[in-house]
Amino acid sequence: MPIDLHDLIDLFQEFLEANYMNDLHGIASKGNKSISIDFFKLAEFNGEAADQLLDDPDNTLKAMEEAMKIMGFKARARFKNLPESQKVYIRNVRAEHLGKFISLLGIIRQTSDVRPEVTIARFECPSCGNVITMPQTEGKFKEPSRCSCGRKGFFRLLSKELVDAQRIVLEEAPQTLEGGAQPKRLSVFLRDDLVEPRMEKKTTPGCGICITGIVREIPVPHPQGGIKTRFDLAMEANHIDPLQEDFSEIQISKEDETEIKALAKDKGIYQKLIKSVAPSIYGYDMIKLALALQMFGGVKKFKKDGTAIRGDTHILLVGDPGVAKSQMVIFVSKSAPKARFVAGKGASGAGLTAAVVKDEFLKGWALEAGAMVLADRGILCIDELDKMTKEDTSALHEALEQQQVSIAKANIQATLRAETTVLAAANPKLGRFDPYGIIGDQIDLPPALITRFDLIFIMRDLPDKERDGNIAAQVLMNQSHMGAEPEINPRLLRKYIAYAKQIMPALTEEARNEIKNFYVKLRNTGTSGEGIKPIPITPRHLDAIVRLAEASAKVRLAKEVSIEDAHRAIDLQRYCLMEVGQDPETGQIDIDRLSGMPTKERAKIVGIRELIFEMSKEKRTIPVQEIIDEAEKRGISAFKAEEAIEKLKRGGDIYEPKKGFIEKI
Ligand code: ADP
Ligand code: MG
Repeated sequence: MPIDLHDLIDLFQEFLEANYMNDLHGIASKGNKSISIDFFKLAEFNGEAADQLLDDPDNTLKAMEEAMKIMGFKARARFKNLPESQKVYIRNVRAEHLGKFISLLGIIRQTSDVRPEVTIARFECPSCGNVITMPQTEGKFKEPSRCSCGRKGFFRLLSKELVDAQRIVLEEAPQTLEGGAQPKRLSVFLRDDLVEPRMEKKTTPGCGICITGIVREIPVPHPQGGIKTRFDLAMEANHIDPLQEDFSEIQISKEDETEIKALAKDKGIYQKLIKSVAPSIYGYDMIKLALALQMFGGVKKFKKDGTAIRGDTHILLVGDPGVAKSQMVIFVSKSAPKARFVAGKGASGAGLTAAVVKDEFLKGWALEAGAMVLADRGILCIDELDKMTKEDTSALHEALEQQQVSIAKANIQATLRAETTVLAAANPKLGRFDPYGIIGDQIDLPPALITRFDLIFIMRDLPDKERDGNIAAQVLMNQSHMGAEPEINPRLLRKYIAYAKQIMPALTEEARNEIKNFYVKLRNTGTSGEGIKPIPITPRHLDAIVRLAEASAKVRLAKEVSIEDAHRAIDLQRYCLMEVGQDPETGQIDIDRLSGMPTKERAKIVGIRELIFEMSKEKRTIPVQEIIDEAEKRGISAFKAEEAIEKLKRGGDIYEPKKGFIEKI
């Protein structure tokens, strides 16, 4: 039996007098329009009334406001801190929740303009002068159909009460999603003081919030007029609480802590981490180490002038098709805390940064957060970066460095926070690397964007007997569902990372010197004679090394960055720089690869390739000697021709079916 409305009002009066007199006085003195009531206080005071609020919030809230009115205060009652039983995931909101009081956690994806909305309209009957009050709840302006005197239609609108309203779109927080599932969304309507300017900071796109409110069904306008038969569910917000910055669903128990500390002390921890990143993928130890360090992250620093240096390590993988780029990116998006995954054109809508879109419900503009903003303080994994639109990639580089996204379109101007770590994968310009071309030229992204990545890994699909055998074994093992066991199980790894992220290691003097020496040495390599150009290392690479070294210290839960951490970071950076400039044949660093192979050399290889293609029109299997003879006729020495054939074999253009013969692939 529910409590009778009159008793409820009496009871609430008593409750307010005992608990909320200060807040109620604040309404007059501070100009507040609502008071925020702790659900548990009400539950303590009267369990039945509290249950009634959850079951029938419309009437119970009215009773509470009525009680306030009797006490001489005009305000709304807003309830926070609902019990666990009322916490519903957005994806689980159903018709059964209609009219019920529940709470939702999520990230604000979109916010509309604030618009006035009519809540109550008063009409006068021109025949008898009677005043008819019509509450406006349906979204469509409603006039009275008839008066008690019998008159139908043509009533005069006397007055209307307006309230500010806004629609936001709430999306499930990535930390509540099971490995990589797509987040679901729900519209939430905010009214009155929930849309006051001082609330705006808490409700910009990208913010995490906990909302309590009532679930409503809303009619969906039909494109041809009228409404559709299908209704949408939405929430009418009653209370909004911003989530704590360090909000994380990750619970770390005492046992977890012991395990984490043991891992951190383990001498072989870095090797264990490598073996725990994408264990079903063979090889790529350097990339795996980099990805592990990326998940741990560096330390953000604030300079005296108020600007900041990011602590996030951005990583770019560029490579031939089928080298497991996607697999790596997906692995990170499933393992790291607060990770989000987007792929190529799939990132449309608000794209990577933010967009201003039309709001069909309130007929205005809405600001929608893109993936970078939604993944604030987490990792954004972007696959097929080269397939993104030009607008997206050019907006991305501001977000990568400034860690914020600004937008000014229609009448909306906003700056959204995007302290997001990025892991991206891209294919080379022509789909695969031309082994004889300049690597840098084959990355089809704006240079300003490329330089924002701390580490760029080049992944080439070059034939290599031993490696090919191992990959084949690995792929076949994966096929048999056995897969490879990770050293550290993914759940523990997430906890380990979340735990280590609280540590802010600082550089030691030795580590600082080590990094400095590396930088100075590389910058000056070869400037004295030999004609070898120095590697193009810039101060950005220095920042990148520092971040990686800090992450390496976090792995050990250490407060200081040791000389070994510095070395680990330097090795990674050097590996990436060299990879771009490495001769695939000898493994030697051929600085000229960065600026392209000497043109003459390149022309010879391309010449031989064309020659072989020409000859293979006549016969499939060509004796090497014939090619050499033909090359000599064209002015290429036998030695050079043989060298070029070797390189073409390496590059995967041709192969050797039997000794002394080659075939085009
Ligand atoms: P990409 O995104 O680079 O085009 P994918 O990630 O889609 O490549 O990988 C293609 C397939 O090849 C996947 O099934 C992947 O598991 C397999 N593969 C590629 N390289 C390796 C490797 N080193 N070890 C195991 N499997 C691999
Ligand atoms: Mg792919």
